Amino acid sequence: MSTGVVVAVLGLALAACGQSANGAAGGGGSDGGDAKGGLVGIAMPTKSSERWINDGANMVKQFQAKGYKTDLQFGDNVVENQVAQVENMITKGAKLLVIAPIDGSSLSDVLQKAAAAKIRVISYDRLIRGTGDIDYYATFDNYKVGVLQATYIVDRLGLQNGKGPFNIELFAGSPDDNNAAFFYQGAMSVLRPQIEAKKLVVKSGQTEFTQAATLRWDGGVAQSRMDNLLSKAYSSATVDAVLSPYDGISIGVVSSLKGVGYGGAGKPLPIVTGQDAELASVKSIIAGEQTQTVYKDTRELAKVAVQMGDALLTGHQPEVNDTKQYDNGVKVVPSYLLQPVSVDKDNYQKVLVDSGQYTADQLK
Ligand code: BGC
Repeated sequence: MSTGVVVAVLGLALAACGQSANGAAGGGGSDGGDAKGGLVGIAMPTKSSERWINDGANMVKQFQAKGYKTDLQFGDNVVENQVAQVENMITKGAKLLVIAPIDGSSLSDVLQKAAAAKIRVISYDRLIRGTGDIDYYATFDNYKVGVLQATYIVDRLGLQNGKGPFNIELFAGSPDDNNAAFFYQGAMSVLRPQIEAKKLVVKSGQTEFTQAATLRWDGGVAQSRMDNLLSKAYSSATVDAVLSPYDGISIGVVSSLKGVGYGGAGKPLPIVTGQDAELASVKSIIAGEQTQTVYKDTRELAKVAVQMGDALLTGHQPEVNDTKQYDNGVKVVPSYLLQPVSVDKDNYQKVLVDSGQYTADQLK
């Protein structure tokens, strides 16, 4: 089902059900039905990545179109900033909080205050962990993101056709982001059997999540790690593929590779994956540097979060499609998962331009 259809069905389901959600999701509790048009606090992690800027802008637009007031804040990737911003939203009388956490486990105290004030809470894209004071989770199928990245590598290398062995290095996202583990597990579900069969070789030996992790998804940190891996394990070998979980990391990795001559005559760049279809990375893909990315339509994610929020504040029950995967350590959070899409040079026109995500001019 396309995401457009999913959202249309979601709308119908919400319109049709009409029952009260009081107590249905636990968490913050709500009077239900009395908060239409109230203030919605939207806490995003950082402006240093395009996607969160778009996420924030999309939600503001959509909540306002439904008559709500909004307070959008970005935490600059500093946990204390985000906690203070959420506290401030509570003080201002927000009825709903939509939060993409910087550190998934650092919001328990502030969310206890939100619960005491009967404010509903939606965890946005990233799961808020270690607290019962959240109601719903709107995200993409995060495990599948990793599966798409790894499958792309395996297919492009031709491992199923008996080619190999090839050398690969592995990067993971921020260890304080619940998504990072899901991406890595999804990717390793495809890569590990190939590593065990010696079709893929990780010359650095760094295959554990903790070794591959990149604090705060920082491209500079990833670039330094790649510099290190290249000088320690590849003085006389060639790297054929790099699992990268996020475009900002991919840009750092590609720049490290170019620094030692990859992409020059007789030394092609390895396959490098990514995530978010950020403008710089899509241009890099078109230019033949980064190879792949995973597109997650944040316009659709905003729609899901806005539908969830509006339902919660008007006494309806939000639509979910997953009630098993996302255990935050205290409760299994009812979730709505959207589908990610793998993008490369062959399909970017269809997936990114025809869908209106980018204009052809932006990609020049
Ligand atoms: C998001 C990704 C993003 C990453 C870095 C993750 O939680 O799901 O879309 O690439 O954070 O911002």
